[in-house]
Amino acid sequence: MATVKHLSSSETVELFRRYVIPNYTRYPINLVRGEGAFVWDSEGNRYLDLFPGWGCNLLGHCPAPVVQAVQEQVALLIHVPNSWHMEAQGRWAQMLCERSFDAQAFFCNSGTEANEAAIKLARLHTPPERYKIITFTGGFHGRTLGSTAATAQPKYHEGLGPLMAGFVYAPFGDLDAVARRIDDETAAIMIEPIQGEGGIRIPPEGFLQGLRRLADEHNLLLIFDEVQAGCGRTGHWFAYQHFGVTPDVMTLAKSLCGGIAGGAMLARRDIAPSLRRGMHAATFGGNPIAARAGIAALEMIENEHLLENVARVSGVFRERLETLQSQCDLIREVRVLGLMIGVELTVEGAPAVQACMERRLLINCTQGNVIRLLPPMNLTVEQAEEGCDILGEVLTQMAHSPSTS
Ligand SMILES: *Cc1c(COP(=O)(O)O)cnc(C)c1O
Repeated sequence: MATVKHLSSSETVELFRRYVIPNYTRYPINLVRGEGAFVWDSEGNRYLDLFPGWGCNLLGHCPAPVVQAVQEQVALLIHVPNSWHMEAQGRWAQMLCERSFDAQAFFCNSGTEANEAAIKLARLHTPPERYKIITFTGGFHGRTLGSTAATAQPKYHEGLGPLMAGFVYAPFGDLDAVARRIDDETAAIMIEPIQGEGGIRIPPEGFLQGLRRLADEHNLLLIFDEVQAGCGRTGHWFAYQHFGVTPDVMTLAKSLCGGIAGGAMLARRDIAPSLRRGMHAATFGGNPIAARAGIAALEMIENEHLLENVARVSGVFRERLETLQSQCDLIREVRVLGLMIGVELTVEGAPAVQACMERRLLINCTQGNVIRLLPPMNLTVEQAEEGCDILGEVLTQMAHSPSTS
């Protein structure tokens, strides 16, 4: 590999300070290379990354089959519009439908776009007077204005009003509350089967099945946003497969293409045509590079038996974190489904994230006090142990330091 001369982290920070809109909170570190569960900064420091790409790098950094597929494709055909057929998009759609339900796919470039497609489909599929979509507190569906309105968290709405009309919020996990919100204008129920950004919230027993029942009784579309939970993350291809409930519409992105940008909406075959010709589009949606990367990601998961590895590594996290909980009173609850891992603290989580980073471990905190890990599916047991060791040290030290309580 050719050696690249990188800017230092502080030089890079200075560029951002001058030229990049500061709408993100960024760590003052310039990441330059990644491989598997590790990333390196321009100073040569190596980090164990248990939150790679905010969940996008589900196969680790630069997974070889994805790299190869993209390298091959980029020299053949980079982009052609959706006014043509392209083999890779068709094969990719087939592979996704074969692993989920009897559906057809629409492709786009991100999670929020996939959800916009689902929102449009719900409105187009039902009569005009039915336009309302029930979504859930603590949910997260993206940052475009439709998805922002669908996201039932006031902090994301501040200053943006008036929001798109038609979203009705219900408490996550409360079936009776959902039933009470259904009326003649309701078109759909939209939910993350496991809330990610909301703090790794796993629905109570029977809740998703109850939503399926309500949707059937009232002829509503059941839309699952699996942008974070899907594509193998939980140890099944899709999170809904843990619950014995099948949605009518499912949205995917983040890890869908092994780290390349890509999104998809799958809709039941009899519903899909409601997204009528001409009513929706994404210029780059399903482009050959994303499609080849998406296919390579699915093949890699199968060839390397990664769904099985999720169960193994998830068990290590669960055991280690539950043991830690019994020893450390900063931990209120440990929530694990596959490689969606939440550790709810009794205190703010940001200092823990900072302390882990100083020990070269990258993690995330969401909702102020939930440590969130979204490790890659090809993490080894040893790497999981190493991450738990560091997190354990950090939380134990915080519990004993007088400033934390
Ligand atoms: C990240 C996320 C989105 C938004 O995806 P983008 O690609 O950032 O638009 C939507 N839904 C869920 C559940 C997510 O986790």
